[in-house]
Amino acid sequence: MKTCSRCGKIKANNLFCLSNKSKDGRSCACKSCINKKRKASYYTDKNIVYREKHRELRKEQNRKWKSKNKEYTHKYNKEYRINNKEAIRAKEKIAYSKNIEKHRNYREKNKEKINAAAKERTKNRSDKEKEILNKRNKDHRIKNIKKAREIARKCYRKHSKKHSENRRNQRIELTDYYIKMRITAHRSGLSFKDIPQELIELKRIQMKIQRELAKQT
Ligand SMILES: [Zn+2]
Repeated sequence: MKTCSRCGKIKANNLFCLSNKSKDGRSCACKSCINKKRKASYYTDKNIVYREKHRELRKEQNRKWKSKNKEYTHKYNKEYRINNKEAIRAKEKIAYSKNIEKHRNYREKNKEKINAAAKERTKNRSDKEKEILNKRNKDHRIKNIKKAREIARKCYRKHSKKHSENRRNQRIELTDYYIKMRITAHRSGLSFKDIPQELIELKRIQMKIQRELAKQT
């Protein structure tokens, strides 16, 4: 909490702009006071003409300032994104719906590139990111369980051939997944996570032996 030097109101820290100059890293006047002041001066004739005249120069200066104050810019953008989540999303939605055809064409044209980038991102995820994503997915599934089941059912029906082929391959190749299924099949109380790799290897050997024996008789 902090007191605004201009309006005198006590406000939460994030309602004060980030500032490199002050001790606590925040400006002494609150955001709404600074905005009021800025708005008042922004639209004076003199300033409008000035901006128009020096458009390129200002752009260049802006770019330079940002690259010099990368940390500040990063922090500022992050805070802005968090505080204006809804507004940003709404804006993006409008922009997207205006250019839906363009987006679709772009995706179609750059399919491979996009897929490769997504794969790369998945591969490079840190454990922390994985954890966050897993939790988010789980929460979402719980919230939308009926819908999720319906989608899964539809997908299953649509690709039933592929699924059964997949299962057959799992069985023939004795994949880890298949063996884990077999281990947990009889209410062993184990979940996939609890099964050590050694047990999987042992079970695989056992199943191979059983198969051999079945062939002989
Ligand atoms: Zn204020």
